Order: sequence, then structure tokens, then C-alpha cells
Amino acid sequence: MDYKKYIKIVNDWPKKGIEFKDITPLMDNGMAFKSAVDEIVEFAKEKDIDLVVGPEARGFIVGCPVSYALGVGFAPVRKEGKLPREVIKVDYGLEYGKNVLTIHKDAIKPGQRVLITDDLLATGGTIEATIQLVEELGGIVVGCAFLIELSYLDGLAKLKDYDVLTLMKY
Ligand code: IMP
Repeated sequence: MDYKKYIKIVNDWPKKGIEFKDITPLMDNGMAFKSAVDEIVEFAKEKDIDLVVGPEARGFIVGCPVSYALGVGFAPVRKEGKLPREVIKVDYGLEYGKNVLTIHKDAIKPGQRVLITDDLLATGGTIEATIQLVEELGGIVVGCAFLIELSYLDGLAKLKDYDVLTLMKY
């Protein structure tokens, strides 16, 4: 499917110089959203996944329907101060800004096979931080899936050791 026709590009948002890729028109279209989720589910099916993990907030939008379809759980990675119980955390740089990500300490059992999802791979900082959290808890990252990859920012370079699916490239 040509997903790109469902992506709206917003110039200078949230900061000057950023070409923001807005995925909400894709989510708004039942057929396009289902097709995108189905492609990720197909990618994940042979990987014997125990858990899907996604960073807030658009990683939830992509990851939750995938976890539902696979019949496995979903663990949220959130900004500092958002999760109510004991967490581990990691600092990272974003395409536009800095951030701290956290995950509940008991979200992953050692040896669990994890699929990580997000809407978009830019510099790779968010996904790298998410991988770090998963691996620190003993999870095995068996795949990373994104709707969009910004190839010009080369986030893939940070994911050389992982199996990656991206549905659109810019
Ligand atoms: P990275 O950490 O530089 O790879 O940036 C990826 C993260 O920033 C993801 O969690 C995205 O949701 C968000 N992000 C960066 N640029 C965009 C964009 O153009 N559209 C939507 N999300 C973006």
C-alpha cells in the first residue's frame, strides 16, 4: 500500500527547521491503519514474541494493536515522572530536544522476546534508549518496527545489530 499519501508533512513544527511527519491521517483511515498494523504483525509472527514495548506516545498507537493481534502484552516506555511504580531510566538526545525515558522495573522478565514499535525512526536516539531499557531488564530485542524512517538522519546505523522493519522511507 502507498502509505505516504496518508502522511501530512508539517514544516517548522514543533520547531523551526523540522519537517514533521504527521501520521494522524493514516490512523484516521481504517484501511490504511489496519494494513500498516497487519504488516508489522506479519513481520513479528515468526519471531515468537512475548511482549511489545513502545515509547510514548505514538509508540503506543503502533504497538498496542500489534500486541493485541499477536495476543501478547504491551509495556509502555514513558517520560520521567509518568509511571507510578519503581522504574529504571535512561537519558537520550532527540531530533529536537532532550529527554529521559523510563520503564517499570518489573515490566520485562529476563529472557522475554521483545518487539519494539514506534511511529518514526529519526536519529535513532529514542529507539536506542528504549532498547537499552529492555536489555537492562534482561529482555531480548528480536525486532524493531516503525511506520516511517527518515533515511537522511541515518537512525538505522544505531540498529545494525537488530532486525528492523520500516513501512515508509523519506
Ligand atoms: P529519534 O529519537 O531522533 O529517532 O526521534 C524519533 C522520535 O521522535 C519518535 O518517538 C517520534 O515519535 C518522534 N519524532 C521525530 N520526528 C518526528 C516526525 O517528523 N513525526 C512524528 N514523530 C517524530
